[in-house]
Amino acid sequence: MSPFDAAIIAPSTRQVRKLEQGRARSMIDPFGRSIDYLRVSVTDRCDLRCVYCMAEHMVFLPKRDVLSLEELDRVASTFVALGVRKLRLTGGEPLVRKGFITLVERLSRHLATGALEELTLTTNGTRLAEFAADLFRHGVRRINVSLDTLDAERFKRITRGGDLSRVLSGIEAAQAAGLKVKINTVALAQDNRADLPAMAAWAHARDLALTLIETMPMGEVDEDRTDQFVSLSQLREDMAAVWTLDPLDMATGGPARYYRVKETGGLLGMITPLSHNFCEACNRVRLTCTGTLHTCLGQDDATDLRAVMRDHPDDDAPLIAAIRAGIGVKPKGHDFRIGRGDGPAVARHMSTTGG
Ligand code: SAM
Ligand code: SF4
Repeated sequence: MSPFDAAIIAPSTRQVRKLEQGRARSMIDPFGRSIDYLRVSVTDRCDLRCVYCMAEHMVFLPKRDVLSLEELDRVASTFVALGVRKLRLTGGEPLVRKGFITLVERLSRHLATGALEELTLTTNGTRLAEFAADLFRHGVRRINVSLDTLDAERFKRITRGGDLSRVLSGIEAAQAAGLKVKINTVALAQDNRADLPAMAAWAHARDLALTLIETMPMGEVDEDRTDQFVSLSQLREDMAAVWTLDPLDMATGGPARYYRVKETGGLLGMITPLSHNFCEACNRVRLTCTGTLHTCLGQDDATDLRAVMRDHPDDDAPLIAAIRAGIGVKPKGHDFRIGRGDGPAVARHMSTTGG
C-alpha cells in the first residue's frame, strides 16, 4: 500500500483539525468578494492539441515541477478548510493524469463531511467511457465536457488529431453513469460559427446544457486567434436568428450569461471574458499544476504555493498564510483584449492554468 493509499483510510490528525477549524473561516479579498471556488489544474499534459489552447509541439513540464497527488490533495484540502465550497479539477486533461481517480476519491471525503458542496471537473471527454462510473462513485455529479464541433473531420483539425467518436461515447457513458453534463464550446469564426445553432439543437435533444466561449488570448499558440475570434454579441445574433432566447437570471459568480431556448427548452450559456466586465462578482481563484496560485485569469499575479509546501512538509501554517496573502492581493479585474498585433494578454497557457 502506498503512503497515499494509506492516507485515504486514515486522514492525518493535522487534516482533520484543519477541517474542523476551517469551517468557521472564509476568504474575503480586498474588494469584499468571498472566495469559495477553486479550480485546480492537475496536469499540463493532454491527449489533444486544440489550436486555440496549445502549440502543436508543446513542451510539457518536467514531472518534478508538477504537484504530486499528495501535494494536490494537501493544497486543495487547505483551500477547503479556508472556505472553498466548490472545487473544479481541470488541466491539461485531468483524465490523463495517472492516479487521478485516486485523487478524486481522496478529495471526496470533503463532500462526505459537508465542507465541500461540489467536486467537479472539466474534461475533453476522450477517456470518459473508462472513468465516468468511478467519478460518480466518488461523488462527482456534474462535469463539463469541451466539444467544439460534431463534424469528425473538423474535430480532427481543431484538436489536431482527435477522434470525435470517443468523445461522443464518453458523453453517453457519463450520462448513463448518472453525471449531469454541460458542453463547453469555444466559438471559432472559421471552424464552427455557422454550426453553433445546430449544436444547441443537438445538445438540448440530449439534455445537455451548452455554453459558448469566446477565445481568450492566453499563451502562444501557432495560429492567430484574431482570425478566429467571434464576440458574444455576434454569437447572440447568430443564435437569435434561429432560436428564441429567454434571458435567465442565474448568478454563478462567473462570466456566463444564461438563456432558455424556447423551442428546445434547453439551457444556453455564453461566456464573455472579453466583451463584458464580470469581475465584480468574481468568487474564484486558480491553482496551476505547478502549485502557483493565480487570483485572476487575465492578470500575471502569482503566489508560489509549491515552494511553501515543499519547504514546510509538516506544517500547514505557512501554506495558509501564503494562500491568505495571495487572496489579499487579488486584482480588481482583468483587461483582456484581442486586436491585430496584440500578443497573449498573459504568457501562460490555459492548459497550465486550468480553464
Ligand atoms: N482538457 C480539458 C478540456 O478541454 O475540457 C480541460 C482543460 S481546457 C484548458 C478547459 C477549457 O478551456 C476548455 O473548454 C477549452 O476549450 C478552454 N480553452 C482553452 N484555451 C482557451 C482559450 N485560449 N480561449 C478560450 N477557451 C480556452
Ligand atoms: Fe487539451 Fe483541453 Fe487544451 Fe484541448 S482545450 S488542448 S483538450 S487542455
